[in-house]
Amino acid sequence: MNRMEKLKSEKEGLAVLSDIYVYAKRTIAEIPDDDLFRMRWYGFFYRKSQSSFMVRIRVPSGKLTSKQAEQVAYLAERYGDGTVAITTRMGLQIRKISLEHIPTVWETLQEIGLDTRQTGFDNIRNYMNCPVAGLQENEAFDASDVITELTRKTLGNPAYTNLPRKFNISVTGCHEDCGHSRISDIGLIPQVIYAENEFKEGFRVRLGGALGRFYAAAAEDLGVWLPKEQAVEFVLTVLELFRDHGKRTNRKMARLHHLKEELGLDQIREELNLRLSLPLIKMGVPLSKANHHDHIGIYRQKQKGFVYVGLTVPTGKMMAHQFRELARLATHYGKEDLRLTAQQNVIIPHILEQSLESFKKENLLKDFSYQPSVLLRGLVACTGKEGCDLALVTTKSAALNLVNELENQLKINRNELRIHWSGCANSCAIIQTGDIGLHGTDLEVNGKYVEAVNIYYGGEIGPNAKIGTLIREKVLVSDLTDTLIEILTDKKYFTGIELRKTF
Ligand code: SF4
Repeated sequence: MNRMEKLKSEKEGLAVLSDIYVYAKRTIAEIPDDDLFRMRWYGFFYRKSQSSFMVRIRVPSGKLTSKQAEQVAYLAERYGDGTVAITTRMGLQIRKISLEHIPTVWETLQEIGLDTRQTGFDNIRNYMNCPVAGLQENEAFDASDVITELTRKTLGNPAYTNLPRKFNISVTGCHEDCGHSRISDIGLIPQVIYAENEFKEGFRVRLGGALGRFYAAAAEDLGVWLPKEQAVEFVLTVLELFRDHGKRTNRKMARLHHLKEELGLDQIREELNLRLSLPLIKMGVPLSKANHHDHIGIYRQKQKGFVYVGLTVPTGKMMAHQFRELARLATHYGKEDLRLTAQQNVIIPHILEQSLESFKKENLLKDFSYQPSVLLRGLVACTGKEGCDLALVTTKSAALNLVNELENQLKINRNELRIHWSGCANSCAIIQTGDIGLHGTDLEVNGKYVEAVNIYYGGEIGPNAKIGTLIREKVLVSDLTDTLIEILTDKKYFTGIELRKTF
């Protein structure tokens, strides 16, 4: 049994709550290592380099109210370092929370209907959905009710808090695959069929996607059509199959992907059929004609007279006062509704068309633009050295500098160019889905270790997502701009990019 399985078998992760209240009156050194780990079941991650905790907040479907955003901004200012970050799972993080303040932060979030449970370690992470669910004319249907029910059934439920490894789930009713089904352990994407004289809402099922330190795998279509009303039972059944049969001896081989590889899709279907109340309906895999959409910009909603506005939050990092201002805008112009995206951006829905001109003059839009540059629009970065003990390189600030330098030197005639940057090989910035993906490493130069990156190329997100491939290793961060200029202007890799002329 590996150390983590032993830790979980000795004490259930969620059982650490009462201890947290005791530890909050002591020092970090007095907390047993195993309980420091178990605190991740409550979303509190100890960061040794900062002698404080990062808290990760679930935001199912990325949907947040203005009041919740105001409180998160307050907590970040009062107990954190004054910043709030949007994660690539449509969640939020606050850093530098001291041990003594954890109970207050936990209770405040609970009071406003936000939860931090099961956001770390071997748990089901935040449920992903289309961030404009319920707003778009062309969505197949709104899948938010499935996510609400899954959250209700799994959060705080010990039946799902000791999985072999972490578990990512996306459920969308849109055709753009905003939830990243291809890199999810379970990805449900919509398919409406016509049967028995009526249209029926349901899903295609993808299983076994994973991006991580040791491998990157795209989820595979299970070859079934799932009625929408069976979706919750289906997801819970896959979770139970994984819980009971996933590999627990080697953590590198413990994701659903590995169980799928071991059993094969046919046997997975059979195993699920033995457990489900209704048998799965086998169906061929249709080709998707849709493209990915980041929802940045201004778009008409299906609700007549309303628009939603997608704003770029560079690398997902905001000052608390900016987050509070977003909440104010959502209240003043919208319906107190904010949406977080997997590209670390924010959407404000329900803005009356006649209020749009006044909305566009708001000062915050100078920081968070609805018409950003191509590179800023496609930029994703994890926490990196600024707040993660595992990071080998600085990411967020370095990524902004990189974009600046590239924009100074390149003319980019493309609508999209996505650079994703992770501080280590763990791929929290989902680097294998970027046009360019960077993951932090180091290189020994004259007896010293200096910051470097491995470079991936050709990843895609959306309906036709694919995993990028490694094209350069151990490039010094100090050489990164020049190396990327070389790659970006090479027609073998990209078109529509050239060097600016200098005179
Ligand atoms: Fe930390 Fe690595 Fe994840 Fe970045 S990718 S947040 S450095 S663990």
